[in-house]
Amino acid sequence: MRKNIAAGNWKMFKDAASANELFEKLIATEIPENVITVIAPPFIYLKEFVQKASSKDRFLIAAQNCHHATEGAYTGEVSAMMLKSINIPYVIIGHSERREQHAESNEMLKMKVLEALNYGLNPIFCCGEPLEIRKREEHISFVTKQITESLGTLNHDQISQIVIAYEPIWAIGTGETASPEQAQEMHEAIRNHISSLFTEEIANNMSILYGGSVKASNANEIFSKPDVDGGLVGGAALDADSFIKIINSFR
Ligand code: PEP
Repeated sequence: MRKNIAAGNWKMFKDAASANELFEKLIATEIPENVITVIAPPFIYLKEFVQKASSKDRFLIAAQNCHHATEGAYTGEVSAMMLKSINIPYVIIGHSERREQHAESNEMLKMKVLEALNYGLNPIFCCGEPLEIRKREEHISFVTKQITESLGTLNHDQISQIVIAYEPIWAIGTGETASPEQAQEMHEAIRNHISSLFTEEIANNMSILYGGSVKASNANEIFSKPDVDGGLVGGAALDADSFIKIINSFR
């Protein structure tokens, strides 16, 4: 079922005291009935937060990444099997920072998605184009290729577990937001692409989030577009007041 989702990616921010402070404010917030809130803190806080969130409705925890293997000699990595063993329901896969800084290819992300799905996690699969691709007006073919190469061979049960986050790289952490029209254009193209790869029903049930400088001041306008089902939020998710406003930005 298509859901409205406000997801916060904390990236590598906040020591334990300030992470707890933010988390306590968020968990004390009333989440609207039509919204699911997902918080993706650094790995070190996951176990504590998932336990605290277990009794709260519509408030779920995500990891920011997982490895493509189940276990092995991969120093510093965390697997989907480990995340599942502490009841983490969501995992962000393919964030552009990981694609760039850790050379994660579409093929590698396909392996990560499969591994996450094998352990019953819901991947939040990120896609999005760099500025030069947008300027060449090749953004739609670029993003649909990312989706085909990483998700195209999933079966219907598997693709139904996926949330897609469209995050134009030029809008991440830059203060420059895609216009609601630019977001809608891409989200519609993504939904049509999912429909052509799978079925119209699967496409209509998929939540497609926008990410890239979403703030309390622009969330409502972006989320009101018909194919935008919420946001993956970086900077504005680090401040309780801002993120709570974003959670309350759905009609
Ligand atoms: C992100 O990191 O996914 C993101 C969208 O960041 P920001 O909201 O800061 O642009």
